[in-house]
Amino acid sequence: ATPAAIMVGTGRAAELGVLFRKGEALEALSHIDMVLFDKTGTLTEGRPVLVGVHGPQPDEALRLAAALESASEHPLSRTIVDSARQRGMNPPVVEGFRAVPGFGVEGQVGGSRVCVGARRFLEQEGIPVDEDAMNEATGLENNGCTVVFVAVDLQLLGFLALADPIKPGAQEVVQALKARGLKVVMVTGDARRTAAALADKLLIEFHAEMLPQDKARVVVDLQNQGYRVGFVGDGINDAPALAHASVGIALASGTDIAMEAADVTLTRGDLRAVVTAFDAARQTLSNIR
Ligand code: ADP
Ligand code: MG
Repeated sequence: ATPAAIMVGTGRAAELGVLFRKGEALEALSHIDMVLFDKTGTLTEGRPVLVGVHGPQPDEALRLAAALESASEHPLSRTIVDSARQRGMNPPVVEGFRAVPGFGVEGQVGGSRVCVGARRFLEQEGIPVDEDAMNEATGLENNGCTVVFVAVDLQLLGFLALADPIKPGAQEVVQALKARGLKVVMVTGDARRTAAALADKLLIEFHAEMLPQDKARVVVDLQNQGYRVGFVGDGINDAPALAHASVGIALASGTDIAMEAADVTLTRGDLRAVVTAFDAARQTLSNIR
């Protein structure tokens, strides 16, 4: 590719909301054969809605979850805090707050230890979940909900079901990429069943319960198998994968850390620009061949 052709290609792409941070990224993108997508905030809106509160003490579960989440920046946190406020709840003061990335948050309330997060967080902490609660939570996950468990001093208080709608255009983007001969896979930190519900809708394969370093490892493993891997994401938890991918693509609607780790920014936060980016890359490179 001549430098002039690359300049024309990146210029045209920029007008369409695709910012290539270096000319090499345009060329690298034209060779990609596998695209990995983060789920939350990338394929979904990333603005979950609280759809139910369950378990033995649902109100107290929401109140304590809101107390812990007010110190967190996770996409689930704001919804939980706002939902408690809308119900006129007064979350108590938290001491010793700690975020456990990929698992949840914990802290002390009135001398008791409170844990809020994924099912595997409770498992890791040795907090039992009885069979009825487990079955109900499993049903919610099979419907695509993310379930956030709340425990106090090793006892399950309740669990919250949050639904994060799929982005308009997500289905279209997946189909368009497949039609161009690319393999599409979802990589998420969310629970396996929750991930499966969305992946089945999009007809793609997925990896679930991935910590940030796991997402990066998936990228590297695929590269070692000979794939040229693109990664599309928005979160801090995607930064290592974005950095390792042959081309990292970050949504401008996401975090600065993701954009810094990526080679390409979708400036309008519109997922459909992923297809625009590929087409711009392939057109530019084929023009010069
Ligand atoms: P994702 O790839 O879906 O953005 P994360 O790595 O951020 O995933 O989180 C993985 C899972 O850990 C979430 O789906 C959630 O179950 C749990 N989790 C992480 N942080 C929190 C939090 N602040 N509150 C509740 N649950 C959390
Ligand atoms: Mg995300």
